[in-house]
Amino acid sequence: MSENCIFCKIANGQIPSEFVYESDNVVVFNDINPQAPTHLLVVPKVHIETLNELNDKALMAELLAAVKAATKKLGISDYRTVINTGKGAGQEVFHLHIHVMAGREFSWPAG
Ligand code: AMP
Ligand code: ZN
Repeated sequence: MSENCIFCKIANGQIPSEFVYESDNVVVFNDINPQAPTHLLVVPKVHIETLNELNDKALMAELLAAVKAATKKLGISDYRTVINTGKGAGQEVFHLHIHVMAGREFSWPAG
């Protein structure tokens, strides 16, 4: 738990939120500023700043398993996943998260 980290507060229930999906170490909730009709954030409960600091392979697996479980639960088979790592890549919240977006066309390469 990192003080003043919004995702720590959400993941640990300090800010009441509705989870689309939850496993032992991961929560999935809706992005507050959705960039697609469905825009989920897949977030570890423990505070990890970026993908560069994620070394726990079991947690890596659990994060991807949560992507699959949450999309399956919502009946979504086609989706875009994004991990912004570092300011230069557009990361704004420094608590690791996987964006999962669906429900519209996505261009490639990503902007
Ligand atoms: P990033 O730029 O990859 O760090 O993405 C941060 C994401 O967190 C953005 O899509 C924001 O809309 C989202 N966000 C920020 N605060 C909240 C919040 N309180 N609840 C849900 N999503 C949030
Ligand atoms: Zn945090």
